[in-house]
Order: sequence, then C-alpha cells, then structure tokens
Amino acid sequence: MSPYFISVIIGTLLGLKRTCPKCNRVQVVPSNKKNESVPCKFCKANIPPAKQISS
Ligand SMILES: [Zn+2]
Repeated sequence: MSPYFISVIIGTLLGLKRTCPKCNRVQVVPSNKKNESVPCKFCKANIPPAKQISS
C-alpha cells in the first residue's frame, strides 16, 4: 500500500476525504481545513467542504 493510499483511508475515517468536483480525484484535506474550501492539489480547482450529515 502506498503512503498516499493510506492517507486516503485515514482521511475517510476522520471525515477529511474530499472529491474534487472538477477532476473527481480524491484527496485528504488537513484537519484544520475540514470546514473550509481547499484548492485541489491536482487541478487547483476550489473544493467546498463536504456537507455534514447531521446539523
Ligand atoms: Zn481537481
């Protein structure tokens, strides 16, 4: 398993995984950016924070 793949799994568990709406690539955002938009590290598109299920 690659370190990147492991980070995606961990991000999924922590709710930090995000899918880019432009290139559809999955990436993990830093926990301090969990509720903020972040630029895609692949295509630089803006990725809004994932909608929370409960709120
Ligand atoms: Zn992207």
